[in-house]
Amino acid sequence: MLAGSTQFDNLEQALKHYFGYDEFRSGQREIITTALANRDLLVIMPTGGGKSLCFQLPALLKQGVTIVVSPLIALMQDQVQQLANNGIPATFLNSSITTEERRDRAAAIYNGEIKLLYVAPERLNQEFISNFLVDLHQEVGISGFAIDEAHCVSEWGHDFRPDYRKLSQLRHYFPKVPWLGLTATATDRVRQDIIKQLDLKDPDVHVASFNRPNLYYEVRRKSTTPYKELLAQIKQSEGSGIIYCLSRKKVDELTAKLQHDGIKVLPYHAGLNSETRTNNQNSFIRDDVQIMVATVAFGMGINKPDVRFVIHYDLPRNIEGYYQESGRAGRDSEPAHCTLYFGLGDIKTIEYLIAQKVDRETGLALEEEQRIATQQLRRVINYAEATECRRIIQLGYFGESFPGNCDNCDNCKYPRPIADWTIEAQKLLSCVARFSKQGRNFGLSYTIDVLRGSKSDRVFKNGHDTLSTYGIGKDRTQNEWRNLGRSLLHQGLVEETSDGYSVLTLNALSWEILKSQRKVEIAIAPTPPTAETHDISTNTVEIQSLYNRLQKLRKQYADANKVPPYVIFADSSLRLMSQQQPQTLAQFAQISGVGARKLAQYGEMFTGEIRAFRAESGLSVQVESDPTPPLNPPSPRKSDVSQTHLDTLDLYQRGLSLAEIAEKRSMRETTIFDHLLKLMECSYEVTIDRIVSLEKATAIEQAINTVGAERLTPIKVHLGDDYSYEEIKIVRARLRLGSNG
Ligand code: ADP
Ligand code: ZN
Repeated sequence: MLAGSTQFDNLEQALKHYFGYDEFRSGQREIITTALANRDLLVIMPTGGGKSLCFQLPALLKQGVTIVVSPLIALMQDQVQQLANNGIPATFLNSSITTEERRDRAAAIYNGEIKLLYVAPERLNQEFISNFLVDLHQEVGISGFAIDEAHCVSEWGHDFRPDYRKLSQLRHYFPKVPWLGLTATATDRVRQDIIKQLDLKDPDVHVASFNRPNLYYEVRRKSTTPYKELLAQIKQSEGSGIIYCLSRKKVDELTAKLQHDGIKVLPYHAGLNSETRTNNQNSFIRDDVQIMVATVAFGMGINKPDVRFVIHYDLPRNIEGYYQESGRAGRDSEPAHCTLYFGLGDIKTIEYLIAQKVDRETGLALEEEQRIATQQLRRVINYAEATECRRIIQLGYFGESFPGNCDNCDNCKYPRPIADWTIEAQKLLSCVARFSKQGRNFGLSYTIDVLRGSKSDRVFKNGHDTLSTYGIGKDRTQNEWRNLGRSLLHQGLVEETSDGYSVLTLNALSWEILKSQRKVEIAIAPTPPTAETHDISTNTVEIQSLYNRLQKLRKQYADANKVPPYVIFADSSLRLMSQQQPQTLAQFAQISGVGARKLAQYGEMFTGEIRAFRAESGLSVQVESDPTPPLNPPSPRKSDVSQTHLDTLDLYQRGLSLAEIAEKRSMRETTIFDHLLKLMECSYEVTIDRIVSLEKATAIEQAINTVGAERLTPIKVHLGDDYSYEEIKIVRARLRLGSNG
């Protein structure tokens, strides 16, 4: 039996029960085991690695309540909603709730109904701690502090929040309560600072790899008509996506174009008012629109796990930014696509922006900043230009060495052969040399025109049809020359002036090539096949059409309940459902992502849809049968009840008291009580007169009639101190049972 818990034999069982997952992700098991041993921990995992589970599961298995500090109200609400959907009692206290809600929630917390309490850091002032938390610790027990987004405590991080600094004072009040810090921060300096600032005691530091294996990385050369290519890519892409642009203006322009072409998109940038931003964001999260066109202002703190593609339509400013932004795809670990569109014009734009960095007061250029920004841009270009595995470069940036051959980036999947293009380079460079000799300079396109013997007016007017290099490059296409030119530029083998005219000039290395002292190697066949590359495992038409149908069902239900679709089921669960097509509740329970609560809540609905689909498609349909009827008439939600509940019921019906059952089963009395409640909720008949006297039950029923059954606290307030929450709950459950049938 699992230490600290009474219900499960091992961690996997608990995982399946609460979250519906069959196995732990890498690192989770070790972290959870350490957390259960009450040690301090620092968990460093990339986005989507599954950090939340590392404190949520221990919170459920330990006695008392775990306090979760989280910086963003939206994230907090989202997590609490997701937990509620798994039947896990969690709540939050922040500035968005009313005084009354606060009071109710506090009562529920004191009453031990809550396992996870989310708190905004600014709440954790002296008064809150000494008036609320200290009492709570005595009454219910605080089982741990989990500090989410722990890098907010560090000034070295990108998101410093002064309120986080106050957290360490909690240590003085609760010296024995273990701490768990979590972050996706990749830099070591910030990690060390977190340990220091949070005053973690000999923490177990767990650093996961920053590799995100489910993300496909690719770089596409911007063609002369990049919009056309983008549109084609979007039309081929399924699911939600984000398109990042460098400026607000470009966001607005691209949004308008895409809308004009019938794509469901909305814009997001800091220039929109906050109401519009919130609305657009919600439409995106709820899948009312497919795509968000945004500046990098969008994405931080947005918990949408099923983003299927992230496109950078402009060059990002640095590798870390690119990693974080593209990393908003596929947080659910399902395959997702990250595309970077790369054009030489983008380099110019960013260089221009860098040159704009001036000191506001003196008007002088901020040289240090410009230097760093330029260096970062260089690395982005190197990434975009690279012919090796994209992951080697990205992860190398964070100091992680990756062996390569990831098989999930363009360079690994479609390796570009390296070829010796020295002769062609000599042709191109000597053409540039001829221009210079005449005291003139031209850009790459014009140079290619001359090489390919163009009959354009401009060439004739310049008299370049008489140059010895005129027409010597007819054997290569314009694109091939372009590829060579760009490659020479990126390898620094030729210069391009950045005074706004972009003309080519030779440098020392160019001359080495011309003198045959240096070879030129370039990657050829620059664009991998654009034919769709993502593998959707739903390979047959049948599976896909069932998937679409289940998606629709999920969306309808989500809209009706005003929650985002992924709260109901992750895409991966829907995919498994369409592949395995479970028709009975028992089969449905086997799907990853289906825990006890979701089985009870959605089992009928989804298996019903699957059976209907199969019937319509002429496939065999299985009828739900129940081989072992329980002691009482089966109810629509019987599946919510497991053997452990039935064992309790058996003993209870034999006349044992709650205390006796608890003793016999080595469980806490409250657990036994919870079993009985659960049984009643699931329409099992339980006689409650051994728990509540008739007199009291009548009074409670009257109170419920007066103040309603929705919330416990008003009932309790109405009745006064003679009545316990347990008594109220059990009478309320019986009332509900009665009204059901
Ligand atoms: P992070 O906070 O590290 O970005 P989350 O905690 O939000 O990541 O988890 C990312 C996604 O992975 C969520 O949809 C979560 O439900 C899912 N997940 C976490 N652990 C598992 C697991 N063991 N098996 C399957 N899915 C998991
Ligand atoms: Zn690779």
